[in-house]
Amino acid sequence: ETPTEPDPDQPPAKKLATDVAVVVDHYNTRPEVGVAQRETSPIIGLKSFNNWVKSVLITRFAHPALAASKLVGRGPRAPRGKVLDMGCGKGGDMTKWAKARAAEVLAVDIAAVSVDQARSRWQQLRGPSFDATFAALDCYTDPLSKAFSPAKLATPFDVVSMQFCMHYAFESVQKARCMLDNVSRWLRPGGTFIGTIPNADQLLQNLEGVPPDAPDLTFGNDVYKIRFEDRVHKPLFGHKYWFYLQDAVENVPEYIVKWDNFVQMAADYGLHPVYKEEFHDVFSENREHAEFGPLMVRMKVVDANGESAMDEDQWEAANIYIAFAFEKR
Ligand code: SAM
Repeated sequence: ETPTEPDPDQPPAKKLATDVAVVVDHYNTRPEVGVAQRETSPIIGLKSFNNWVKSVLITRFAHPALAASKLVGRGPRAPRGKVLDMGCGKGGDMTKWAKARAAEVLAVDIAAVSVDQARSRWQQLRGPSFDATFAALDCYTDPLSKAFSPAKLATPFDVVSMQFCMHYAFESVQKARCMLDNVSRWLRPGGTFIGTIPNADQLLQNLEGVPPDAPDLTFGNDVYKIRFEDRVHKPLFGHKYWFYLQDAVENVPEYIVKWDNFVQMAADYGLHPVYKEEFHDVFSENREHAEFGPLMVRMKVVDANGESAMDEDQWEAANIYIAFAFEKR
C-alpha cells in the first residue's frame, strides 16, 4: 500500500462530510469563468434566462424599495438605498445592484472562495458603483452581526435578496428560523425581501410520477437530474434531494421548501408575500413588456426573431424554480 492510494475499507472523505460541507466545498471549488467562457456553456440559454428572471424581480420589487428609501439623497441619478445580498455566491448580481443604483450592498455567503470572487467582481464593475462589504458566514446558523460590525448594520436594509440559495436553510426548523431572523431583523418596515427557490409542487409532482419499480427516485433530463432519498414527504423540513444541473451543480443536497409553511413562518418575522410565480409564468407574464421584452433580447434569452436560446430540456429545467417577493410590515 502506498500513501497515495485510498484505503478501500474507508469510505471516501466526502461521505463523512456533513451536507453543509458538501455544499460549501461544491461552491468553493467551482471555477469562476469569464464572460467569454460563460458564453460557451452548453446551458447558456438557461443561465441567461435565470439571470433575466432575477433582473425582472429586482426591477419590479427591489428598485421601488430602493427608490422609496428616505435614508439617502434623491434626484434621478442619485444612488439610493441599501441591499443585503445573502448567499451572494460569486457576485452574479453585482451589475444588477449597480443598475438598481443601490448606495450600499452587504454581500455574504458561506463559501469564502466565492465571497472573494464576488468582491473582485464588484471591484471590476465599470460605470456607477456602490459601497460594498463582503463577508463569509453560515447565514442559517449564525446571526449577521457575527460578520458585520454594529456600524455596518446601523442603517436598515431596503432590500434583502436571496437568489437560488434559501432552500439550503430548509434542512431544519432551526436553520429556517435563523435565516428568516437574518432576513428580517435589519430590514426596514416597508422594505422588500425577494428570492428564487425550487418549485416544491413541481418537484413533488415529479416524484410521485416515478414508477414504483424504478431503481431509485430519480427524474429529470439531460440538463438536470433530481434524486430524492424518500418517497414519503417529510412534513415540513428536511425533505432532501440531490440536485444535478449540467455545467453548474454537481449533485448537491438540497431541501424542499413548502410554500405555505414558509409563508406561515415568515409571518412570525413580519414578512408577508406580495408575489409568487413559476419561472415559466414569469416568462409569459413579461415577454411582451416594454422593458423586459427587449431586455430578453439583450440578455440573449431569445434572439431578435423571438427564437429561444433554450432547447426543450433547458426549458423544462427552467421551471424547477419560482420567484417570490415579500414585504416587511
Ligand atoms: N445568489 C447567487 C446567484 O444567484 O448567483 C449564488 C447562488 S448559488 C446557486 C447558492 C449559494 O448559496 C452558494 O454560493 C452557497 O455557498 C450559498 N449558501 C448555501 N448555504 C449557505 C449558508 N448556510 N449561508 C450562506 N450562504 C449559503
